Amino acid sequence: MKTRVLPLVMAIVILLSSCSGGSYTEYEFMMDTNCSITVYSRADRDAVAPVFARLRELDRALDRFNASGDVARVNLSAGQSPVEVSPEVFGLISRAKELCEMTAGAFNPLLGAVSDLWGFDRAEHESVPSQTEIAGLLEACDISNLVLDADSCSVYIADERARLDLGAIAKGYAGQVASQLLAELGVERAIVNLGGNVTVLGSREDGRPWRVGIQNPEADEGGYFATVDCSDTSVVTSGAYQRYFDLDGVRYHHILDPSTGYPAESDISSVTIISPDGALADALSTACFVLGSRNAEELCRRCGVQALILTTSGEIIRLEQ
Ligand code: AMP
Ligand code: MG
Repeated sequence: MKTRVLPLVMAIVILLSSCSGGSYTEYEFMMDTNCSITVYSRADRDAVAPVFARLRELDRALDRFNASGDVARVNLSAGQSPVEVSPEVFGLISRAKELCEMTAGAFNPLLGAVSDLWGFDRAEHESVPSQTEIAGLLEACDISNLVLDADSCSVYIADERARLDLGAIAKGYAGQVASQLLAELGVERAIVNLGGNVTVLGSREDGRPWRVGIQNPEADEGGYFATVDCSDTSVVTSGAYQRYFDLDGVRYHHILDPSTGYPAESDISSVTIISPDGALADALSTACFVLGSRNAEELCRRCGVQALILTTSGEIIRLEQ
């Protein structure tokens, strides 16, 4: 059986505009992707290092593969005992559970074991998981198995087979945290780019909004099919083109339909959510992809978020709120 692994496409959103003056960008690889922070004055440079330090700490806590982090510890104790986590991590996990319920399960943070079965993080793919393996795990992913106790800030996974995976919400949340911290440190305008999940702080020097380009799934990195003008907000995109592998002529991508455990068969090629609430934008981008364009529109209206959807037939749907 021939295996071909295609590269992970990370930069899904590029920035088209900058201030008229100089800019200063620092890069770091974290959250399994290329991250950057851009500020627009010499004085703001000092704010960048503490923000990266904060992001690194958050990454450690939320990365399910980092054994010393809160999420990994919760997973290690699945089916055994509740684990106390930091109030911040508890808050994000609670939010993830709420968003699972709000999206009728299309966003499900308890799918980690099924993702592991598919192995999108592996370099080589010899086979796809069997229907039996997937079906056996799916029932363990029911969100009722994520048991939260706010008094003790503890999290318990009630089924030993299930794993918590915040991959569909963490970067959106982190972007907003970074932007807030920059503002607290006195920065007025900045761009935080966490692997294409962009959070913009303030607006351009001349008062106009930032212009964010949305990656064309068909083009090389840097090609865009639309732009979004925005200030003080997060711009988060999900698409099948971001992480996948090809096997025997079939493409398997990383966004799973929680009702089947298989890569979601969506009529969406890429969906971008624009919201000042980064965690919401991130979770909704994933959920919308799973739901398909019609239900995605309804969900975005219900949540009061702006969205940009590119369908597989090439139609562009813009939802303004
Ligand atoms: P995103 O790029 O934000 O759409 O998130 C995709 C990542 O979230 C995947 O790489 C998985 O780790 C995880 N994931 C996949 N499908 C789902 C889903 N339906 N709900 C929640 N997380 C998911
Ligand atoms: Mg997401």
